[in-house]
Amino acid sequence: MKFSHKLVLWTVIIIALTLGFSGYFFVNYVFETSLEREVGQALDENSILRFAFETAALNVPAKYDLLQDSSVEQIASNLETGGQGDGRLLRICDEEKQAVFASDGFDADDELLRSAGENQYSYRVVRLGERYYIHTASNINTLGRALYLETLRDVSQVFEERQMGFVVYRRLMILMLVLGVVVMYFIASGLTKPIRRLMRATREMAAGDYSYRAKQASSDELGQLTQDFNRMAEALEQSFDKLEGEVQAREDFVGAFAHELKTPLTSIIGYADMLRSRKLDEEKSILSANYIYTEGKRLETMSLRLLDIIVTKREGAKLQTVPVDSLTEYLRSMFLPNDSMELQFDYEQAYILADPGLIQTVLVNLLDNAFKASEPGSRIEVHGRSEEKGYRFTVRDYGIGIPAEELSKITQAFYMVDKSRSRSHNGAGLGLALCAQILALHDSRLEIGSAPGEGTSVSFLLREVKKEEQHEEIRA
Ligand code: ATP
Ligand code: MG
Repeated sequence: MKFSHKLVLWTVIIIALTLGFSGYFFVNYVFETSLEREVGQALDENSILRFAFETAALNVPAKYDLLQDSSVEQIASNLETGGQGDGRLLRICDEEKQAVFASDGFDADDELLRSAGENQYSYRVVRLGERYYIHTASNINTLGRALYLETLRDVSQVFEERQMGFVVYRRLMILMLVLGVVVMYFIASGLTKPIRRLMRATREMAAGDYSYRAKQASSDELGQLTQDFNRMAEALEQSFDKLEGEVQAREDFVGAFAHELKTPLTSIIGYADMLRSRKLDEEKSILSANYIYTEGKRLETMSLRLLDIIVTKREGAKLQTVPVDSLTEYLRSMFLPNDSMELQFDYEQAYILADPGLIQTVLVNLLDNAFKASEPGSRIEVHGRSEEKGYRFTVRDYGIGIPAEELSKITQAFYMVDKSRSRSHNGAGLGLALCAQILALHDSRLEIGSAPGEGTSVSFLLREVKKEEQHEEIRA
């Protein structure tokens, strides 16, 4: 059953129960009060009649000491008509509880009389035919007689009013139910609108449309739920996009890897086949073996680089405070014996937060690229500057440069601007991909500026550790 239908159904049940019970109790309360009032009046009337009877009895000529039945009848018939147009209903019974006088239509049985005691008023409500009466009884002790006076007071009106009350309430209930259903139907469908929107959104998402968002129409709990749902959808969409990107990147990587493997393997297989199938002269044999050796070396470099990338990713960076000069000293010792280039170091001494081994790898790769891109004798500079945001390393060369449209691609694995040139330097196109990965572990990235023919400048920022922080570190 739909949620909105449940709301309507419960409203109907609540209205029916509330009106049913309240109506029943209200009508009954009014009835009880009216009946009580009528009983009071009936008893008063009985008391007045009794008093009138006794007074009239005293006025009867005292021929006998005992009041005769005929006198009783006389007085009773006077009381029956006295003061009222349509007459009263009364009955006078003697000591044996036998009727001495009874008004026409006084059909009540003598049950009340049987239970009536001395000197007390009693009453009960009786139904005679279609009408209801209050039947009262009292004793009259006068002139040696102990008589009983009974009256009947018509209270059918009170019962009719009760019946009328029930009918009115029943109609009111039906009207309220119809109204309640209509009003509640609109309210329920308005209230459940956000739920329907959310349902639609979940269905759309389940069908693969992650960009679908539920419209938020209110700021109540359901509005909040819609907002949270949309936030969750946003996060999911981003995760899926990221996953898709990663899957795509992995596929590209495997494709490029297979391609990069194929080229050296084709050469190796080709030259090896030539060596084993034909008798070559010594010069050609050495040339073939050389090819096999260099291509094999390239494969070795490539596999080592790949291993570096995988290991770095798995192990992460172990950050520590590193003095900048320890890094530059390492570079100096590695590259200065190469006297074909003019290598210049210009740096500010400072302390940085880094994994020294990994940052050395980055700097070595950048210098290696700079060397490969430069003509012999060209100048290559390594700068180190303390900046507001951190410590910046820059490797600058005046070599061939990189076309602007290639700049965004060169950090992709296996990407080389000029493949034959890179391969001639044993390049695998993995150096910058490794650098980018290492810098990501340091919350940093490569910033490359280049102009073809003018050279390239590659820089990156690292967190600098200020003097005060070092002291704090020592104290800690
Ligand atoms: P590897 O570093 O794996 O030995 P590689 O140097 O070719 O091979 P990357 O370091 O990733 O690979 O560089 C990618 C490409 O970017 C290079 O092939 C080269 O074309 C270009 N490149 C990188 N640095 C420079 C530079 N300083 N000047 C000109 N081109 C560069
Ligand atoms: Mg390189």
